[in-house]
Amino acid sequence: MERALTAPPIAAIATATGAAGVCVVRVSGAGALEVGDRLVREAAIRPSRRVGGTFFHARVFDPLSGQAVDDAVVLVYRAPHSYTGEDTLEIQGHGGLLPSRLLLEAALAAGARLAEPGEFTKRAFLNGRIDLTQAEAVCDLIQARTERAAHLARAQLDGALGQRVGVLYERLTALCADVEHLLDFDEGEVPDGFMCDADMRLAGLKGELAALIGTWHEGHLLRDGALVVISGRPNAGKSSLLNALLGRNRAIVHHEPGTTRDAIEEGCALGGVPLRLVDTAGLRETDDDVETEGISRARAMMRQADVNIHLVDLTARAALAEVGRQDELEPARTVVGLAKCDLPWVCEPVLSEGLTAVRFSSKTGDGLEELRAAVLSKLGVAGELPGQPLVAMRHVTELRAAAEQAQLGGAALAEGPERLVIAANHLRDAAEALGRIVGRVYSADLLDAIFSRFCVGK
Ligand code: GDP
Repeated sequence: MERALTAPPIAAIATATGAAGVCVVRVSGAGALEVGDRLVREAAIRPSRRVGGTFFHARVFDPLSGQAVDDAVVLVYRAPHSYTGEDTLEIQGHGGLLPSRLLLEAALAAGARLAEPGEFTKRAFLNGRIDLTQAEAVCDLIQARTERAAHLARAQLDGALGQRVGVLYERLTALCADVEHLLDFDEGEVPDGFMCDADMRLAGLKGELAALIGTWHEGHLLRDGALVVISGRPNAGKSSLLNALLGRNRAIVHHEPGTTRDAIEEGCALGGVPLRLVDTAGLRETDDDVETEGISRARAMMRQADVNIHLVDLTARAALAEVGRQDELEPARTVVGLAKCDLPWVCEPVLSEGLTAVRFSSKTGDGLEELRAAVLSKLGVAGELPGQPLVAMRHVTELRAAAEQAQLGGAALAEGPERLVIAANHLRDAAEALGRIVGRVYSADLLDAIFSRFCVGK
């Protein structure tokens, strides 16, 4: 008699939908191998009788309809030696929308329930296979758009960030324990040298937290992509530049001004940084409502941009008017593109101090490499691969909370023995903030927020 399953194992299609050579349906949890038993008819090949780390070929049947569903290769993993740390089956059937759906339906009919987004990785975390930064790296790796972003995710998946934060967590917990020890055994007496030692430990921690927070910018660019906005007057050559940077004709190029009336966004990569490249409506005075809306969107995009490539067409008399409007441009995140350098200029560029300018031609390609280099330099991304872990916004929030609480803890310590309890509380809060980064401290809400970003099947 088979035992009743109180919490059924989870199942999902782990591969992308659509035409493909192979699809994988994954089943994980207590009872996963018994689900497999119900999918194959021959007693001799039942997964529950097989050792972990083996695979076999089988015809898979839907236990409800009795119909043969597919011929598949079935991989058997036994806890804790699987991705989730649980008994797991991976059923590799024929790819394609229908075969994968039929395989999944058969697994559900055999007693599994449909997995939630990220539930396999969540179980890997709950079973101690990975920490929360590694779980986040799984998502980053799947979504990586450049090799550089994939390299970052890979390093985080190997535990680079988790280990670094883990060390700081332990140092804070140890300091907190030392302060609590004073409270327990010495009735609030602070031995000589304790304050000096605590100060040094907190100063070191503060430096480490600040260094980690400082890695956010590069991490954000690699994970989320940099917003690079091309702006300028109508006919300055914005659409031509978008096309030249993309290497294909995405935007309509026309000698008639006002062709691009709304922003066009495309993804590409520059020096390993994923870019969201946006061509905007030309900036000019107009009575046309649609164009006015396009222009106000263009200005909003310019304000949000990580880098704004602002084009000036010096072959046009109108460029002279442009020169007076440079107050809109922030030198730190603007590259002025002096467009159409293959043509004779009707005026010489007069640029505000601090603005970086590059001459280029989308038509001949001259200067495009310099323009790319200038954009990359404004993004502040070094040429070589990041040698240290780069944090994401969730980590920054917790690192800042930890720094603030550690600071308050240090201040309370300095105020004397009567403030030891307060100091210990702040240090405990600081440690907990770091604990939430790696998942040594977590709540259901925190896990939901992290794993809801995942796809079903991961
Ligand atoms: P936008 O209105 O700013 O998007 O400008 P477009 O990219 O549509 O270009 C306006 C006109 O300038 C078109 O006739 C283009 O062919 C021309 N143009 C754009 N870039 C160059 C360039 O580098 N050299 C030359 N000679 N013409 C260009």
